[in-house]
Amino acid sequence: MTRKFFLPLVFCSVALAQTSTPAPPAGAPVSARALQIHNSAIIVDTHADTPQRFLDEGFDIGSTDPNDIGHVTLDKAKRGNMGAEFFSIWVEPLSNQGHYAQHTFDLVDSVYEQAARHPDRMMMAFSVADIERAHREHKLAALMGIEGGHSIENDIRLLRDYYRLGVRYMTLSWSNTNEWADSSGDIDDPKVQHHNGLTDFGKQVVLEMNRMGMMVDISHVSDKTFWDTIATTKAPVIASHSSARALVDAPRNMTDDMLRAVTKNGGVVQVNFFNGFDDEDFRKAMVAQKKDQDAVMKEYVEKRKAEGKTVTYVDLDRIEHVAKVAGVDHVGLGSDFDGVSGATPQGINSAADLPKITQALLDGGYSAADIKKILGGNLLRVFGEVEKVSREMQAGTSH
Ligand SMILES: [Zn+2]
Repeated sequence: MTRKFFLPLVFCSVALAQTSTPAPPAGAPVSARALQIHNSAIIVDTHADTPQRFLDEGFDIGSTDPNDIGHVTLDKAKRGNMGAEFFSIWVEPLSNQGHYAQHTFDLVDSVYEQAARHPDRMMMAFSVADIERAHREHKLAALMGIEGGHSIENDIRLLRDYYRLGVRYMTLSWSNTNEWADSSGDIDDPKVQHHNGLTDFGKQVVLEMNRMGMMVDISHVSDKTFWDTIATTKAPVIASHSSARALVDAPRNMTDDMLRAVTKNGGVVQVNFFNGFDDEDFRKAMVAQKKDQDAVMKEYVEKRKAEGKTVTYVDLDRIEHVAKVAGVDHVGLGSDFDGVSGATPQGINSAADLPKITQALLDGGYSAADIKKILGGNLLRVFGEVEKVSREMQAGTSH
C-alpha cells in the first residue's frame, strides 16, 4: 500500500472524475493475438490492498455493482484472466499500536471468509502447486503477503504462526522503520531510531522465512536493509510492488544496482502500477505538499487530462526499464490494486483491464514466452525456488 492514510477522500474524488468523463481506451483495443497469449498465461499479481475493504467496509469480492470503484472483484479478475492474487495484510502502524498481531489476524481472516463465501470461484492457495491447481479449476488463487515486519511484534514465533496460517511473503518493512529493519519511508527522519539496515534479529527473521518457505519482500525497505537482506538470504527475494529509481528518484524505488543485485540473487521485481512512482513531477508535488496529498492527487489527474495526456502506466516505461536492467526473467506485476488512491494509469481501471498490459507488451516487441514470464511465470519460478530452498534447509542439506 502506498500512503493509505488519505485513501478514502482521494479515491472518491478521482473516481467521480473518472465516471463523469469516460476514459478513452489506452491505445488500440486488445488484439486476438494478445488475448490468446493473455488467456493462456497464469497471471500472478503480488499486491492488492483489498483485505482492508473486506474488513473495514464489509466488501464482498463477489460484488457486481457497476458503480463500485474497487479494482479487484471475482468478476473483474475473471475478465482479466487473473490467476492468483497476493492479498496484502497491511496493519497501519500508528492506529494499531499495541495490537499489530490482532489486526494481522483479522485481515487474514477476512481473506479466508471471502474464499469460504465463493468456493466455486476462489480458493486459498499456499504453494506453486495450489496456484496451478486453481488455474486448472478456473478459480482465483488467493494468497496472502504481510506488508510490514512490525506485524510480527518482534516475535519469531508469531512469524511462524503467520506462515502456518498461509502467509507466503512478508515485506520486511512498510513505510515505517520497525525494531529490526530500516524503511525507506522514514530513513531521513532523525526522530526515528534506525539500525543501519537489518539488526541481528532482522537477519534471523530473513533466515527463518527462508527455512519456512515464506518469500522475503524488499519493497519499501531502505537501501541498507536491501543490501543486508541480499547478503543474508539463502533464497531469491521479491519486490512485491516496486519501481525504478532511474525513472523517478524516490527513496522507495530501486536503483539500477539494486535491480542487478536481484538478478544475481535470482529474484523478481514486481512492477508497481502507481503513477506517483512513475512521474517525477507528481512525486515532487507530493513531497512538497505532504499535508495535502489528496488535493495534489486530484490536481495531478485533472492537469494531465486538461493537457490531453493520459494518466499513464500502460506506456510500459517501468516494466521495460526493469526488464532491460534486471532482465526479462526478473520482472513481473505488482499492481497495488485497491491501494493506489484511484491513481492507476488511464485504461487500467481494474483487474479486468490486465489484457491491455499484454497488448502493450506485444506492441513493445516482447515474445509470447517473455510476456508469459512477466505476467506470472517469473514469480512462479521464484516461489518454486523459495519452496526448494525451504525443503533443503529443513532437510539440513542447504549449503
Ligand atoms: Zn506498499
